[in-house]
Amino acid sequence: MCTGAVGCIMARVAHGSAGEAAASSKRMDATHISSGEPRLLISRSALLHNARLLRQTVAAGVRICAIIKADAYGHGAAIVVDALAERDESGRAAIDALAVACTEEAAALPAVELPILIFRPVEEQFGGRQRASMELAIGRNWTLTVCSAAAAEDVARTAVAMERRASVQIMVDTGMTRSGVDAAAARELVATVQSKPALRLAGLCTHFARSEEAANGMTQRQLAGFLEITDPVVKAAAQRGGRPPLRHAANSAAVFLHPASHLDMVRPGISLYGIDPTGRPSAARKLRPAMKWVAPLLMIRAVRAGTAVGYGQTWTSPRDTRIGLVPVGYADGYLRALSNRASVIVHGQAAPVVGRVSMDLLTIDLGDVPAARVGDDVVLLDDDPLSPASVYALARHADTIPYEIFCRIGPRVRRIVVGAAAESARR
Ligand SMILES: *Cc1c(COP(=O)(O)O)cnc(C)c1O
Repeated sequence: MCTGAVGCIMARVAHGSAGEAAASSKRMDATHISSGEPRLLISRSALLHNARLLRQTVAAGVRICAIIKADAYGHGAAIVVDALAERDESGRAAIDALAVACTEEAAALPAVELPILIFRPVEEQFGGRQRASMELAIGRNWTLTVCSAAAAEDVARTAVAMERRASVQIMVDTGMTRSGVDAAAARELVATVQSKPALRLAGLCTHFARSEEAANGMTQRQLAGFLEITDPVVKAAAQRGGRPPLRHAANSAAVFLHPASHLDMVRPGISLYGIDPTGRPSAARKLRPAMKWVAPLLMIRAVRAGTAVGYGQTWTSPRDTRIGLVPVGYADGYLRALSNRASVIVHGQAAPVVGRVSMDLLTIDLGDVPAARVGDDVVLLDDDPLSPASVYALARHADTIPYEIFCRIGPRVRRIVVGAAAESARR
C-alpha cells in the first residue's frame, strides 16, 4: 500500500493500531478506528436499508438478485455479501440470489447458501481455456448464461462428463444489442437447452438499454418482446407440472420506473449501494449511499499568493493560503479528471482540489478551513447525496457516471465495514 508516498508511510507508522484492529475484526464500528490511512467505510446498515427499500418496491414473492460484480461496484464483495446474506430471525436474508460477471468473481466470494448467477455468456470458441472455470461453475451449481446452441452444447458436454446437471439461463437480446441470443433465434435455443438432460433451464432474462428514462418507450418494447418469446415457455412448463424458469429483466432503474418489468426476480446493482439509477439524487426514493471514502491530511503548508501548485502548474493561488496534502491519487481511482474541479470535505466544509491530481497524492486549498490540522480526516467521497463531494458530484466533474467512480477505486484503499454492531442491536 502507498508505496510511492513517503508521507503516507509516516501516517501509517503514527497510527499503526488502526490497521491491526481492522485486520483482527471483520466487523467493527467506525468509532473504533482511528484515522491514519485512506479507507473506504462501507455502511452495513445503509446496505440493509437499501435492500429493504427494494423489497418494499417489488410485490411479495418477487425475488431480489443482488448484483455484486466488480467487487460489489468497488464496495468490497465480501463485506456486501456478509451484510446481505445474513439471515434475520425469520430465517430470511435481505436478498435471494447473487450475481457476478464471471466465474473468477464467483470463486472469490465467501461461502453463502444463495443461488449465484454468472452473467458473462459462455462462449464456445474459448473451449479449452474456459473448461476449468466451467467445471468449477457446474460443480458449485452456479447458473451459467448461454446465448447460443454451441455454448449450450459445450456446457452440456462438460456436465455429462462430470455426471452432473448444469443450471443455465438464456439471455435474450430484445434491443440492447450486446450479449444475448437474437429474439428470432431464442425459441430454438430454449428448445435446444430443454432437449438436453444434462441442462436445467433455470432462467430466462433480458437487459434494458434505457430503463432510467421513465418516459422512453424502449423499455416497454423490450419487455413486450421478451414476454412474447418467453410466455409460451413458461406456460408449457406449467402444463408439464415442472418448475418454470425464472424470468428476470429489471435493473435498478426498471425496479423503480417500470414495475411491469419486475416478473419473477429483479436485478438491482447501483441502488443497493444507495445511488439513484437516474444519476441524480432522488426526492422520491430514500436510498442511503453506503460508501464514504476518507483519508488523513498528511501535511499542510502555507503558501504565498502567486504560488503555482502541482504538475504543469495548472493552478496558482490567488491569495496567501494553506495547501493540504492528501495521500490519494489517480492510482487509487481518484480520477485525474477531477483536478481543479472537485471538492473534498474537511471539518464539514468544502475545500477545492487544486492543481493536478497525481498518482499517489492530491492537493487541496484549505484557505477557508482554518481549523484543519495534520491528521484530520478529509472526506473524498461523501455518503450524503447532497454533499459537494457526493458520488453524483464526482461523476459530474469527471464527465462520467457514479458506477465508474465506484469501480475505479483501487485495491490499495482498504474497505472497512461500519455500523455492524449498531445495526444488529437495532434489528
Ligand atoms: C450490472 C447489471 C445489472 C445491474 O444494473 P444496475 O443499473 O446497477 O441496477 C443488472 N443486470 C445485468 C445483466 C447487469 O449486467
